[in-house]
Amino acid sequence: MSVEQAPVQRADFDQVMVPNYAPAAFIPVRGAGSRVWDQSGRELIDFAGGIAVNVLGHAHPALVGALTEQANNLWHVSNVFTNEPALRLAKKLVDATFAERVFFCNSGAEANEAAFKLARRVAFDRFGEEKYEIIAALNSFHGRTLFTVNVGGQSKYSDGFGPKITGITHIPFNDLDALKAAISDKTCAVVLEPIQGEGGVLPAEQAYLQGARELCDQHNALLVFDEVQTGMGRTGHLFAYQHYGVTPDILTSAKSLGGGFPIAAMLTTEDLAKHLVVGTHGTTYGGNPLACAVGNAVFDVINTPDVLQGVEAKHQLFKTRLEKIGQQYGVFTQVRGLGLLLGCVLSDAWKGRAKDIFNAAEKENLMILQAGPDVVRFAPSLVVEEADITEGLDRFERAIKHLTA
Ligand SMILES: *Cc1c(COP(=O)(O)O)cnc(C)c1O
Repeated sequence: MSVEQAPVQRADFDQVMVPNYAPAAFIPVRGAGSRVWDQSGRELIDFAGGIAVNVLGHAHPALVGALTEQANNLWHVSNVFTNEPALRLAKKLVDATFAERVFFCNSGAEANEAAFKLARRVAFDRFGEEKYEIIAALNSFHGRTLFTVNVGGQSKYSDGFGPKITGITHIPFNDLDALKAAISDKTCAVVLEPIQGEGGVLPAEQAYLQGARELCDQHNALLVFDEVQTGMGRTGHLFAYQHYGVTPDILTSAKSLGGGFPIAAMLTTEDLAKHLVVGTHGTTYGGNPLACAVGNAVFDVINTPDVLQGVEAKHQLFKTRLEKIGQQYGVFTQVRGLGLLLGCVLSDAWKGRAKDIFNAAEKENLMILQAGPDVVRFAPSLVVEEADITEGLDRFERAIKHLTA
């Protein structure tokens, strides 16, 4: 039974919503696979994937099935009780990674908040109150809570909210000497994204992550990988740390973990986890049965050779064609990234104009992303069909052609 709803339109946004977002002019109302339809019935191809979230596209039958089945059984019980979907998903994550313990929450920022609190608590318990410094990278992004914007390396997100959280140092990314100079026995954690996502789809160098691991070990500091954007198959491995072969002490996952349903996780070892004793941390919805039921379905589809190996093949399709477009129209100097997280670095002539390219793509019925003003980002579904890739990139080329004409 459906209830008649009052009509709403984009203009209503400015009347009723806090103006912290500037959404596009159209409103999506339905999705299937890598296609989305707006209120007027216009069909778009989705290479944005809800910012690396809709990892299996829209309305994937396995996810819809899991959510519907769970919706008919049990929605929420709080953490006063545990639940079956949460335990099942935690077991899968533990079996498939370095981790032995899982903490569930609802967003990437919350997973990182938990990671940073755990790192500080471990250092406090083991070494005393002087060891609390966190080292993070310039241009990094770790979420929008007060702690996470302060750890993030973009002051535009942390300025103007009162006193900053102290004990946080920022160093240039991929600069091992800078890390060596900054780290000390007061460092409790080094926090890195294996690929800086919001910062421009910039992959870490192998030697950098390896060196960071060694420096952390020398100084009894924990290595934290923020895999909120790179995790759950995005790079063709379940997590990007597995691509690099460098194991963190704490890993955070969100975005693709729920395929569009809000869920996040912090993964760690038993030895570290034991510092978060009863009462030290928590969140009402963390490990919610609905979210975890969907998370289980996402995990079961993604963690298969079929899907993970498919990511590399799709990466090549994107990369080859995007490089060609970049050369032909002189818009990109480089296409970088791993798997289905790709960034096209704008040439000098096009610097600062990623938003114009976003708008031009939208006119050609294509959803893409920026990663800052100088990088065009693609984060499509991992199961996007080849025909959709071809058609989407045809639309993208038309957009670039018109824009450069
Ligand atoms: C998106 C993102 C976050 C924040 O996740 P939210 O769910 O928006 O809180 C944190 N870290 C990275 C690397 C991200 O890409």
